Amino acid sequence: MTNIISGTEIGKQIRQSIADRVVKLKDQGVTPGLAVILVGDNPASQTYVRNKQKSCEAIGIYSELVKLPEDTKESELLEQIQQLNKRQDIHGILVQLPLPKHINEDNVIATIAPEKDVDGFSPVSVGKMMLGQDTFLPCTPFGVMKLLEYIGVDLAGKHAVVVGRSHIVGKPMGQLLLQKDATVTYTHSKTNDLPSITKQADILIAAVGRANFITKEHVKPGAIVIDVGINRDENNKLVGDVHFDDVSPIASHITPVPGGVGPMTITMLLFNTVQSAEHSL
Ligand code: NAP
Repeated sequence: MTNIISGTEIGKQIRQSIADRVVKLKDQGVTPGLAVILVGDNPASQTYVRNKQKSCEAIGIYSELVKLPEDTKESELLEQIQQLNKRQDIHGILVQLPLPKHINEDNVIATIAPEKDVDGFSPVSVGKMMLGQDTFLPCTPFGVMKLLEYIGVDLAGKHAVVVGRSHIVGKPMGQLLLQKDATVTYTHSKTNDLPSITKQADILIAAVGRANFITKEHVKPGAIVIDVGINRDENNKLVGDVHFDDVSPIASHITPVPGGVGPMTITMLLFNTVQSAEHSL
């Protein structure tokens, strides 16, 4: 029988332990603080930001929204970040992506002080992650690693196939799996005969951004299938990159959408913010 991996449930348990750490920090006079910068009025970004703020408040993290208009100049945004870098009450800084086209995302992310880069996207954080050094791990792949840890899978020697190679999901995902001794294969839009590769996976991670893309033709019976995708299907229903009804009968474990990787991403953002506050002691 297939096991459904509930990110909602596992996330709840982890958030409880983070909340306990917040209490300890407050006893020592420190309230963890997260600043979220939102530029423009992208409706999806507004929803993501609201959810992040609500999740912070639920466990006692102070959250501050810096809302800037769509026509904000890059230099003004960089100035805001520099101000936040200096503030002692702010331990984490997050710039909600995507940014308006006239702003260079790389410049913005590189301006966040590495010790406050709780999204783990800056070149310093990415470099340290590659080197296996202590740093903030990017929240979505970090959340996937926690899910795999919770189900108790020993990754050593397992073949993990990652579909997708974006900077924020696919690439770091493969690195984290590699650090746990998995044999990792990256696949992407130029990969020839994708099913022949994904079918070899003991652990299949889908981070493609295409609704119901992974079907049973892509999956080895008994594989662990992790669905990072968040898409709308033709009926506007929220679905993953994995065709759940098709794949779940043959997978040993599978994450649902919603309620799988999504809640873990925010959980790990809270984790990183509290860790940053602990480092500040
Ligand atoms: P992205 O930047 O668009 O990257 C998509 C990747 O999929 C690219 O590397 C692309 O290959 C690859 N791809 C596209 N079509 C393919 C095909 N036919 N066969 C094989 N590979 C293909 O997306 P992302 O930011 O990584 O996000 C991926 C999905 O995860 C999206 O649905 C996004 O909404 C979701 N997401 C969820 C969370 C969460 O918290 N659950 C967080 C972040 C993202 P190329 O590089 O060759 O173009």
